[in-house]
Amino acid sequence: MSYIDTIFGLTGKVAIVTGGGRGIGQVIARGFAKAGAEVVILSRSGADETLELIKKDGGKAYYIATDVTKEESVDAAMAEILKRSGSIDIVFNNAGICKHQTTLEASIADFREVVDVNLTGEYIVARAAGRIMIERGIKGSIINMASMSGGIVNVPQWQCSYNASKAAVIHMTRSLAAEWAEHGIRVNSISPGYIGTPMSADTPQELRDAWMPLIPMHRMGKPEELIPPMLYLACDAAGYTSGSDVVVDGAYTCL
Ligand code: NDP
Repeated sequence: MSYIDTIFGLTGKVAIVTGGGRGIGQVIARGFAKAGAEVVILSRSGADETLELIKKDGGKAYYIATDVTKEESVDAAMAEILKRSGSIDIVFNNAGICKHQTTLEASIADFREVVDVNLTGEYIVARAAGRIMIERGIKGSIINMASMSGGIVNVPQWQCSYNASKAAVIHMTRSLAAEWAEHGIRVNSISPGYIGTPMSADTPQELRDAWMPLIPMHRMGKPEELIPPMLYLACDAAGYTSGSDVVVDGAYTCL
């Protein structure tokens, strides 16, 4: 085993990736599997492409249809994982949605939907996994998907519900990190800037043109550029890192 593998390797770990059927979740699921973890994808509409890619890479993965906003659905998924894999060591709470709307255009139902998936969904998954880790003495790692939008207000598009949900994810992360530290469970968040994925592929060109001067690196990030910080947060060698928010944004939030 190489020196790097002894630090960042995930062999023998069971890693959940919510929203791993496409986008950032798919890339991180592949990264975790390449590092040796058995990966379990949770989302609503399938993950055939991700499973196929991981199989081609020689990794192990399976899919369980799950809605992260529904406690019963998440509990059933956790029970199935324990039955099939015997443990839950790493959770990447990645599933999320964004609505570009002004506050007066958005309905209260729109606001609730975004908060329900991005914040309450992450809470439901973290809580269910944390309970299992505590009961079984698993010194696990939970990584919550936040965003630079949790610390800044994006322009020119308005997305109040999204920004508020991601700011709350960062502080929920700190709260869980402190509460579960005595159990050896680490809880961190990651805050990407603009990353090229299907979520952002629908973005109109005039928005992209408006963003570029605001990003000191003048480009969007690649989902693959999130793999190294994710491996760091997931691995046991990061034993003293908890409650952190790792920002990966091409220096956007420096301005
Ligand atoms: P995508 O839209 O490509 O993927 C979102 C994933 O979330 C899908 O797999 C979707 O699967 C899943 N999902 C949505 N709702 C639910 C639900 N209720 N239950 C289970 N799964 C659900 O988005 P990205 O890959 O771009 O984004 C992933 C995460 O990264 C999000 O949290 C996003 O906020 C965050 N992020 C993205 C950035 C970007 O620039 N792309 C920047 C910063 C943060 P399905 O619909 O099948 O359920």
